[in-house]
Amino acid sequence: MVGCICLCQSGGRHSATGKNFFFQWSWVLKTRAAVLFRLSVARTPCTEAEIAALRELLTALNAEWTQRLCEPGVVWKIRRLKSVWGSCRFRSRSITYNAELARHSRAHVEYVVVHELTHLRVPNHGPEFYRLMDERLPEWKRLRRELNGR
Ligand SMILES: [Zn+2]
Repeated sequence: MVGCICLCQSGGRHSATGKNFFFQWSWVLKTRAAVLFRLSVARTPCTEAEIAALRELLTALNAEWTQRLCEPGVVWKIRRLKSVWGSCRFRSRSITYNAELARHSRAHVEYVVVHELTHLRVPNHGPEFYRLMDERLPEWKRLRRELNGR
């Protein structure tokens, strides 16, 4: 369940219990702190041109990946989010991407797209979620590490 970078509505359903809980929870807090730090570095709002370029990239990536993963009817939007790169609403099949992604490479934006689209299949960060990520985007761990500046 660790490694949550998005508000995928799994917050209340993480399965950490017993002695692992403290370790896993501090890992989550550390990761969140890293993401928050990364986001706070780029406080200057993205320009309209940057957002337009991101919209174009997301249009291409969403078209490509929704077709590859057979996930029709997905709606998405770009917003300034405070602490996450993206969020996915499982029931309404809607994804929100952080405008700050405009300052990251295509590969890193693609990682967030695949992560959020995978939540349409698995709403939490359980083993099945990571199994699908390994299958869909084998280099996802490196991309996540780079995106979170670690
Ligand atoms: Zn997630």
